Amino acid sequence: MNDSHKGAASPLAPEWLAVPEDLNALTPSMWAEDVFRTSAGQLTIDGISVAELKEQFGTPLFVMSEADFRTRARGFKDAFDDAFADICGGVDVYYAGKSFLCTAVATWVAEEGLRLDTCSGGELAVAARAGIAGAHLGLHGNNKSDAEIRRALDMQVGRIVVDSLDELDRVAKIASGRGETAKVMLRLTPGVHAHTHEFIATAHEDQKFGLSMAGDTTDEAGLSAAEEAVAAATAYHSIELLGLHCHIGSQIFEPDGFALAAEKLLTFLDAMQRKYSIVLPELDLGGGYGIAYTPVDTPRPPAEIAQAMAAVVRSTCAKLGIDSPRISIEPGRAIVGSTTFTLYEVGTLKTVRVDTPAPADAGDADDNVTYPRRYVSVDGGMSDNARPVLYDADYSAVVASRASAAAPQLSRVVGKHCESGDIVVRDVYLPEDVAAGDLLAVPGTGAYCWALSSNYNYLARPGVVAVRDGSARLIVRGETEEDLLNRDMGV
Ligand code: PLP
Repeated sequence: MNDSHKGAASPLAPEWLAVPEDLNALTPSMWAEDVFRTSAGQLTIDGISVAELKEQFGTPLFVMSEADFRTRARGFKDAFDDAFADICGGVDVYYAGKSFLCTAVATWVAEEGLRLDTCSGGELAVAARAGIAGAHLGLHGNNKSDAEIRRALDMQVGRIVVDSLDELDRVAKIASGRGETAKVMLRLTPGVHAHTHEFIATAHEDQKFGLSMAGDTTDEAGLSAAEEAVAAATAYHSIELLGLHCHIGSQIFEPDGFALAAEKLLTFLDAMQRKYSIVLPELDLGGGYGIAYTPVDTPRPPAEIAQAMAAVVRSTCAKLGIDSPRISIEPGRAIVGSTTFTLYEVGTLKTVRVDTPAPADAGDADDNVTYPRRYVSVDGGMSDNARPVLYDADYSAVVASRASAAAPQLSRVVGKHCESGDIVVRDVYLPEDVAAGDLLAVPGTGAYCWALSSNYNYLARPGVVAVRDGSARLIVRGETEEDLLNRDMGV
């Protein structure tokens, strides 16, 4: 047994996790612009303390800064507009609604000059309720139902992003049956896959999304699926082919992958324009811009990414001798992710002792040494944040209801579900004196947390509170036990 390492780095911690110098400090990149710790020690957002939020709305609770959302949304729009002004007159920014969507957020998106990317009939319904103009909507999805396609046509959406040859055919038939023309983009898979700091380029595509640009097709003429789709779309009277689309991955920090995808798509677009004597006026380069979930994540400012992408679009168009199509992008996480933290209440605590090889500098290196890992249970878990379970995603956490001068202790924040994998924050240093009743805040939970939430173990999904000008209001109310029982039809 060796407990002498309290306050020092634990050998159980991953290499990237440093012991914070000050456990009460907030890493600005991980939090909304208006989150601070007061001199009394409480976390506040736009001046409202977490204790007040807990009192009024309970926990778990998603707490979002409206001002921060608007700043980030406008930041993307302005940065890309500036970078592409001389290339194609600016950029259309489609907020990816899949990351988090409700009527209030859809309204803010429109008010900040962005458009909205949806991928289901339900997301279109939110857009309709928010009064978003059809022309400013896109509809994605690899398996759109006929009803969703009809709904998109009813709403006169600006673009249906077609994912397969099969779907192209269905969209054409449905539009033709209505005597209408569907505005279509084709989603291509350019063989560029990016994640965080690396990207890989592959020739062939083995995934459910998109039309492959490689020659891996069953077409007799040996055309790629992407070219087959261009040829077919061009031949349909009920299809107006606007252009091409790609999305190369998520949580991407380096612009190289986006730049390579842009170059590949522009080259293909030029070839298709020449071969089929068509003009493809639009090119969408998707989303995937990374955010800071932990102190070691270092996202680039939107302006830096925009400039890098613009440089490649500019030079590729010059090389090809074409005018640039109108560029669009689809950021989700980078707009909403850091606007929100999840507020939990701490319940059960326990410490386990874990055997691990002794560090090389600790005398007899053959010995195993035992180190403590503390489990801190909170009143939510994988039902409000599935990302650690789904993707091994890392998060961070701080004690939010007070400051603490206690020593740091390696901790694992876990939920209350009947799954041993129900982890919210795999590794974080929290003060040794964390106790039941403390409030814990997990930053960076604006994207793909509420959106992926479930009722596992009949837990009610938490509400989402938006804070603005010193007041907090529910933008999505939390579920009640009655909500949970309402759909159960009884005996
Ligand atoms: N566009 C498409 C087609 C996507 O599939 C996604 C996410 O999966 C996005 C945009 C948004 O990605 P992110 O939230 O990482 O920006």
